[in-house]
Amino acid sequence: MASFSARGLILKRYPLGEKDKLCILFTHTYGKLRVSARGARQSSSKLAGVSEPMVILDAHLHQGTTFQVLVQAEAIETFPVIKTDIVLISYAMFLLELVDRLTEDEDPASDLYELLVRTLYLLGASRDPASLVLAAQWHVLHLTGYMPRIRECCMCDSRLDATAGLPFYAAHRGGVICHRCADGYRGETLAFTRPLQSVLHAIGDLMTPADWSSFTVADALKPMLWQLVRSHMKAMTDRDLKTMVFLDALRFDAIGKA
Ligand SMILES: [Zn+2]
Repeated sequence: MASFSARGLILKRYPLGEKDKLCILFTHTYGKLRVSARGARQSSSKLAGVSEPMVILDAHLHQGTTFQVLVQAEAIETFPVIKTDIVLISYAMFLLELVDRLTEDEDPASDLYELLVRTLYLLGASRDPASLVLAAQWHVLHLTGYMPRIRECCMCDSRLDATAGLPFYAAHRGGVICHRCADGYRGETLAFTRPLQSVLHAIGDLMTPADWSSFTVADALKPMLWQLVRSHMKAMTDRDLKTMVFLDALRFDAIGKA
């Protein structure tokens, strides 16, 4: 049986049988792996603590038939600051779910791994975690190929003209439609206002996580951006992100944290 080592971040874990866990391990080198951690549901297991979401670990794995098998693991980072703050946990879990939802197994994505891990480090020290996460998620969409089209109309391909009528975001079209096409469109839409366009273009121009950690989205725009992300993800993957539902439940927008 072949064995190998990998550094990765646990995105999610499920119970597997009576005593084991199935972990979704997003590795730097190999992309997302499904990994069984035998005995890890028993508190006495050495794998119990390291086989939880939001832990970065150096894993020693055996190639299994259905899943990879976690043989040994050393926790490299557990993000204790994030884990003591319900708001930060919610944002972090949202990013983890987003990456899990938008990636395929065993498809190497080291850029995306770096983005996710650097964002988690920045999140713990961020003064405006909502802006950081809104910027980061936009770049996750870009790196995974799920970026909505926002510069041209998704129906007639015309470039959106700043002087023309108000365009609309149409999730099921995968982006924005111009005011002319919106006239006859019967699907769900959101007004794609000028401030919303500007902030998304500005986010797109931010090159690295260090750039977006100092970026601020105006509070008035945050609920609109969340709504756009939510409807986009629902249209792309046919269901709501579970963590998004939780974020809504906490009503971050109402208390100025969204
Ligand atoms: Zn059009």
